[in-house]
Amino acid sequence: MSVLYVVGTPIGNLNDMSVRAVETLKSVDFIAAEDTRVTLKLLNHFDIKKPMISYYEHNIRERGNIIIDRILSGESCAIVSDAGMPCISDPGEDLVRLCSENNIDVKVIPGPSAAISALCISGMNTSRFTFEGFLSTSKKSRAEHLESLKDERRTMIFYEAPHKLKNTLEDLKKCFGDSRKISLCRELTKLHEEVLRFNLSEATEYFESITPKGEFVLILEGKPLCEEEVTLDEAVNMARELVKGGQKLTEAAKTVAKNTSFNKAKIYKELIEE
Ligand code: SAM
Repeated sequence: MSVLYVVGTPIGNLNDMSVRAVETLKSVDFIAAEDTRVTLKLLNHFDIKKPMISYYEHNIRERGNIIIDRILSGESCAIVSDAGMPCISDPGEDLVRLCSENNIDVKVIPGPSAAISALCISGMNTSRFTFEGFLSTSKKSRAEHLESLKDERRTMIFYEAPHKLKNTLEDLKKCFGDSRKISLCRELTKLHEEVLRFNLSEATEYFESITPKGEFVLILEGKPLCEEEVTLDEAVNMARELVKGGQKLTEAAKTVAKNTSFNKAKIYKELIEE
């Protein structure tokens, strides 16, 4: 019986293409690609010659049925997106569902995904997380989405385009407050890979003077357990008590930062200003 292969491709660095991904693309009868021009570059790089069919957001329904018919008639297919894993904020989910409805075997050839790659280097809690994808551009559904996350305790992962980043950071700050921690993971696996670790107030301030460039994944801290209970004054008081008990200012600020939603620098600054 024929198979649909869901094949992960690099998110920037072509050396992240797996041996199995290359072998699979060489072995199938045809490739369903989100953008055939983008995939052609990848195929050329790995010297793969294979017929392609475009499969993207606006032709999913019509192409999906064509692809399923071809697989049912005995051909094997690989689906790839422009970068990363198909089906993750990219076409693929629909085709996999059609395969399951038609008893077609689906196999995964795992590759990088920007979401997991970013989470791993974010410095945030990785034990429990939620993937939120892109926030909607419609004001109403964006507001509803953010509202539904207000009490989320798990680490949250968002995708964002550079030209929408400033606006999104403002919306996140309005919803989650100044002190919530965020890691902005930029240009992963590329020359200018960078992780910016801020709280939301620092993040919006940073981008007042800097124009966001490249691709971003935003890793937002979940709601801290003590967020409602401890104000900044109370956090500084806690630190003051530790200093009275013999801790150095930096040590006290670090301890309190670990147990509250305020960062070390903020508490330290308050302590030395006294
Ligand atoms: N399917 C892909 C995956 O598995 O990661 C995601 C595709 S989605 C259309 C594109 C978004 O992923 C970008 O807007 C950005 O948020 C994120 N992204 C993709 N490549 C990235 C990279 N190299 N560095 C940072 N973010 C990246």
